[in-house]
Amino acid sequence: MMKRILTREVAVGGVTIGGNQPIAVQSMIVEDTANVKGCIDEILKLHDAGCEIVRVTTPNLKDAHHLGAIREGLAKVGKSHIPLVADIHHNGYKIAQEVSRYVDKIRINPGLFVFKRRNPGEEYSDAEIREEQDKIREQMVKVIEACKTNQTAMRIGVNHGSLSERMLFIHGDTPAGMVESALEFIDICEDEAYYDIIVSLKASRVPVMLEANRLIARRWADRLNAYPLHLGVTEAGDGQYARVKSTAGIATLLAEGIGDTIRVSLAEDPIEEIPVCYDILQSLGLRKTKVEFIACPSCGRTKFNLTEVVPKVRAATEHLKGLDIAIMGCIVNGPGEMADADYGYVGKGLGRVAIYRGREEVLKNVPENEGVTKLIALIKEDGRWEEPA
Ligand code: SF4
Repeated sequence: MMKRILTREVAVGGVTIGGNQPIAVQSMIVEDTANVKGCIDEILKLHDAGCEIVRVTTPNLKDAHHLGAIREGLAKVGKSHIPLVADIHHNGYKIAQEVSRYVDKIRINPGLFVFKRRNPGEEYSDAEIREEQDKIREQMVKVIEACKTNQTAMRIGVNHGSLSERMLFIHGDTPAGMVESALEFIDICEDEAYYDIIVSLKASRVPVMLEANRLIARRWADRLNAYPLHLGVTEAGDGQYARVKSTAGIATLLAEGIGDTIRVSLAEDPIEEIPVCYDILQSLGLRKTKVEFIACPSCGRTKFNLTEVVPKVRAATEHLKGLDIAIMGCIVNGPGEMADADYGYVGKGLGRVAIYRGREEVLKNVPENEGVTKLIALIKEDGRWEEPA
């Protein structure tokens, strides 16, 4: 079993991130924040799909107040418990202070919280570096005060593609620069005794986000205040490759015990992100939200039409909760390899299949065309059947 790196627990409304809490699933709506009704509708849809924390873009002060209206609108339909996150943009100190009244978490990007844009590669003197650091501190203290007053959490969300020019000058375009960018803001929070922090270090290239997250996890390995990490691969794109790419980044870190909340960023309807998140978590044994189907790939030994039977079994049983069901092509390897599944459907040849409960072959000689019915009957007999909703 993977050992999860223990982080602080940080409450984001009614969802707690970190510690031994379940890895939380989150996403972001795409509606214009000024369209309050549209935002509420999209938030409700995302939440119904399983999104546990919903982020909304907040590019200006007007939109900070729209977040207030969105929060009110959610309360009117009895959904005030949905945790909301305001995503803050360039020089958004004032926006962050204002919107912290209405949301459960603000997300700031240290790379965008700068005072004077500079050209890439432009040199900084030591005095200029100190001056920018002082200004950042001065403004961040105000944001932290607002977050403390309103009991709002903060994600310090660093993106590889938007490191500040100062960080690029000092550290280069590197995972180490991403880590330093986050630590600079974390230090200010800690100096102000504010610890409701979640950190993300995202990149559109998987090796970069892997390295940045491993670096910060190593920095925190021996301290008490390890903060929860929000994992994601930015701008992953769409379709199959985006899902594979996101999984490669997120699952690799989770398997190393790194990460407390995840977002799969797809260039698709955000609702499509949610099942990918839950599939990543289920495949790693971190959360179980549906039947786990184990099916062999089939080979020359396969004793029935596996590609027809797998969807049939899935269609009949996928509404059940918490079961592991195996469909294996033959008795040579099938019973051993379906391991600890709760039920098994195994080919025997000559139009016959066997139905297993755990490792026990309960029905030894079932005509293939009755296999699915007999499997369901056994699940019912065991009291583990529920009628589909
Ligand atoms: Fe082939 Fe049997 Fe293994 Fe399936 S379980 S892949 S049929 S050997």
